[in-house]
Amino acid sequence: MADEALFGAIERARAEWGGRLLILGHHYQPSEIVAHCDAVGDSLELSRLAAASRAERIVFCGVRFMAETADILSRGPGRSVWMPVPQAGCPMADMATADALEAAWGRLCAATPKAKWAPVVYVNSSAEVKAFCGRHGGAACTSGNGRRVVEHFLARGFRILFAPDQHLCTNIMRTLGREGEVALWHRGTADGGLSEARIRAATLVAWDGCCPIHAGFTPGDVAAARAAHPGAELLIHPEAPSPVAAQAEHVGSTKAIIEVVSRAEPGAELVIGTEDRLVRRLAAANGHLRIHPLRPILCADMGRTTPEALLRTLTEWPEACRVRVDDALVPDARASVERMLAL
Ligand code: SF4
Repeated sequence: MADEALFGAIERARAEWGGRLLILGHHYQPSEIVAHCDAVGDSLELSRLAAASRAERIVFCGVRFMAETADILSRGPGRSVWMPVPQAGCPMADMATADALEAAWGRLCAATPKAKWAPVVYVNSSAEVKAFCGRHGGAACTSGNGRRVVEHFLARGFRILFAPDQHLCTNIMRTLGREGEVALWHRGTADGGLSEARIRAATLVAWDGCCPIHAGFTPGDVAAARAAHPGAELLIHPEAPSPVAAQAEHVGSTKAIIEVVSRAEPGAELVIGTEDRLVRRLAAANGHLRIHPLRPILCADMGRTTPEALLRTLTEWPEACRVRVDDALVPDARASVERMLAL
């Protein structure tokens, strides 16, 4: 089907459902998908929209953990969540499993019998991991509110097990002036590679997962960008390594990056270190600015959603595209996300 015909077919299918359908899209989705979304946002914005929605069907254009979060928050009679390409996952979310976290949790608690621990899990994690977090009294977080969530627990005397993104975690602790209190838990080892003395000395233990996209930015990229665009401001997503983020004028979530762009004076020059579909869209929508990618890197999973798959979902509703989190996980997983939303 030609692009125009495909566009029209998707819009007709949308119109048939009217207000009973909500299509959500992440900022990293391809532009031909964003064009059909009722709302485009980052993980936190889309979580809030899913929670507030009364639509019968939510179609989530993004990756699997996002659709799972929408299902966890929007469960109700006659309501359902769908993904055009349910195989689209997140390599970072796959770096932490609930079983591995439970084992680490047991070791941390055994090494510090008098300490209070709380798990904090990035929303970029599976429903099982969110349920682990909720079961142990912790909260989810996003790149936008991670610092607030971490501060909440630290202020109440908790030590934190943070998963799965080590870089978001170290960037938060760096901005708090406490990066030296972080110990890194090495996946795939029985003891995390941490002695009992190291665990006892740590305020926060960070899982050693990362986003392969944002972790790919290097200090060399920053040096090259500074040389090519002297005077440009650098905006970096906090999933980038701390030595990279520490050099930026602005470190923030996709929403925060978009806000900095929207406030920039005409003619301003900005170098942006995040997923390239968003950078390209910002450059195209802001012709009065000079916007460059720190280095163009695409998330392959975010790019898996196609107009053809979206049309098929809206017209055939294949059961394989339905996202339904195991009922047994929902109460604990929801508790972790709702604690985050309440902070
Ligand atoms: S950009 Fe990174 S964190 Fe986001 S979906 Fe892709 S791999 Fe996961």
